[in-house]
Amino acid sequence: MSEAEIPDDHPRHDSLVTRHRIEDGVDDGITSRQGLIAQGRGEAFDYLLGERTLPSADAAARAAAAHLLLAEHPVVSVNGNAAALVPSELAVLADTVGADLEVNLFNRTEERVTAIANHLREHGATEVKGLRADARIPNLDHKRGRVDADGIADADVVLVPLEDGDRASALAALGKVEIVIDLNPLSRSAQVADVPVVDNILRAVPAITAHAREIADADHETLRRIVEAFDPENAIADAERAVRSGDLESD
Ligand code: ATP
Repeated sequence: MSEAEIPDDHPRHDSLVTRHRIEDGVDDGITSRQGLIAQGRGEAFDYLLGERTLPSADAAARAAAAHLLLAEHPVVSVNGNAAALVPSELAVLADTVGADLEVNLFNRTEERVTAIANHLREHGATEVKGLRADARIPNLDHKRGRVDADGIADADVVLVPLEDGDRASALAALGKVEIVIDLNPLSRSAQVADVPVVDNILRAVPAITAHAREIADADHETLRRIVEAFDPENAIADAERAVRSGDLESD
């Protein structure tokens, strides 16, 4: 079955779409083979969540939108899985909140950075950073810590979907506001985030954009209140409870 043939009401719709896109990502040199493993992990958690967005994840998406709108310099970090799964959605989000898109890879090769940047441009991104990689995140080895000086290194708010725990911790240690999208509420990335969005990236990115559009004209005070009302520990605990209870019907 190709992606276009998967019916919208198929009970495993998101899972099947995700598999197709990741497979294509690997074939096109965008996603690493490690990305297949990360996908399998994510899929298991999505299954346990009932492939739906918890109200606590939606509140996190709203807080994420408020942070991105309040930021001086927001940056959306893009890895091989994110680029394969939601390239146009990431371009739309960056445009909506005025963020930079920066390719940032765990297993960096110049070929893959270029392939991802081209893929994002083909899906509507105007400017893509991450090609220069002329700055470093402290406390990470040389290859893993490379970022753009005028991108992630300079950002005050970063959105890092599907990030590895070491890098998420190193970014948090720099004092940046960190928004993480990760289906595993127990992953270190989710645990160190100021805003953990425990949801499938397929649902989370459009949700953040929708919230950003809704609150785009809100004043500074209103946005600050949304940010302050959000409690990351509660959001993680709620997602963990949903995963452990295995009750696919309740919220
Ligand atoms: P940590 O170091 O934080 O424990 P990890 O080393 O387990 O993370 P990876 O194996 O690289 O990290 O996995 C990436 C993470 O991305 C996993 O926690 C997985 O649940 C999550 N993930 C995978 N696919 C998706 C998706 N489609 N949407 C959201 N999260 C996803």
